[in-house]
Amino acid sequence: MTDQDKAVSPLLDHLKRRIAIAGPITVADYMTDALAHPQWGYYRKQDPFGSAGDFVTAPEISQMFGELIGLWAAVTWQQMGSPSRLHLVEMGPGRGTLMADALRAVRNVPGFADAVTVRFVETSPVLRTRQQAAIMEYGIPAVWHDSFDQIPDTQNAPVIVIANEFFDALPVRQFQFARDGWRERLVAIASDTDDLCFVTGGVAPMTDALVPVTLRGTAKVNDVFETSMQAISIADQIARRINRDGGAALVIDYGHAHSGFGDTLQALRQHKFHPVLSNPGDADLTTHVDFGALSRTFDQADARTGAVLGQGTFLKMLGIEARADLLKQSATPDQATAIDAALKRLVDADQMGTLFKVLIAYGRETAPPPCVSGVEG
Ligand code: SAH
Repeated sequence: MTDQDKAVSPLLDHLKRRIAIAGPITVADYMTDALAHPQWGYYRKQDPFGSAGDFVTAPEISQMFGELIGLWAAVTWQQMGSPSRLHLVEMGPGRGTLMADALRAVRNVPGFADAVTVRFVETSPVLRTRQQAAIMEYGIPAVWHDSFDQIPDTQNAPVIVIANEFFDALPVRQFQFARDGWRERLVAIASDTDDLCFVTGGVAPMTDALVPVTLRGTAKVNDVFETSMQAISIADQIARRINRDGGAALVIDYGHAHSGFGDTLQALRQHKFHPVLSNPGDADLTTHVDFGALSRTFDQADARTGAVLGQGTFLKMLGIEARADLLKQSATPDQATAIDAALKRLVDADQMGTLFKVLIAYGRETAPPPCVSGVEG
């Protein structure tokens, strides 16, 4: 750790005072402050994307990503009978690149632009400004909300929800299996160094109820189980909404198709892994999304889900290879090389193709959207 890293940050100071007064905090509380503290949280104060930022997301790699998702949304809308009003919701839209590419791609779909109100669920004021600039030229009304449950139920219009790399930013609680049962992993202050450190709390007997039935009783000592109450709550809200008013949700993120054990909390700073308890507020914190938990949440609310697909499979089903060929027809040789490289990055198994997963959920009275018939498990 450099001296600069050790310099007192107001957020670290705040966390330490909080712990000194009230005792160790949960990993979820730590993540909430580090990412979303109103003044010093990572997403509240900066634009973390792109080569100059901390990470690059799929829409920032290639316009093809947002374009194909736009077409997916338009076909989903058509299969609902082209309703005259539609809430097109994006959760955590970052720079707004995905939505801009999507709106451009569907410009010529008859009636779609007139039906759509774009609704961005975004907590960061810095990013809201960027999102507004990104989609301005398409002339489609856009509204910003702090959370999904603020989206109004205008004339019971259906909703199509897109969430790319949103769920991985939601806080998780972590539990560690010990000889005498599950104990919650907590963040405390090390008495020798005065740095933040992990400790385990007392035995938490109710934890077993959080572990999915298929895993219960299989944990070995030191196994970690992660659960995001916020992710489950948001998925449940979306499920109820698409059941009531019709619609669909497309969740894309890195994670695992089935629930399992493992500590997946990681920090990224300037494209490199970073210790998770160092520099809170100045590094991105994420976990792998538990798609098993999300699928169960949609199922339990009686919404429908497709099989969890790899991002590569999903994008190929939507025709990304043909799209790349078309773009290359009017590209310079350098641009064509860049298009090929972006395509590989998005779909290849050793890049984003399998680590990133896709889950499609839809209302119980909504026609299955494109790509629901996939057979991957
Ligand atoms: N979807 C974008 C950005 C992903 S980064 C892309 O693919 O490029 C995560 C995004 O979620 C950021 O826009 C961040 O500000 C937002 N975000 C994080 N936590 C949030 C929360 N609890 N509610 C709403 N938005 C949140």
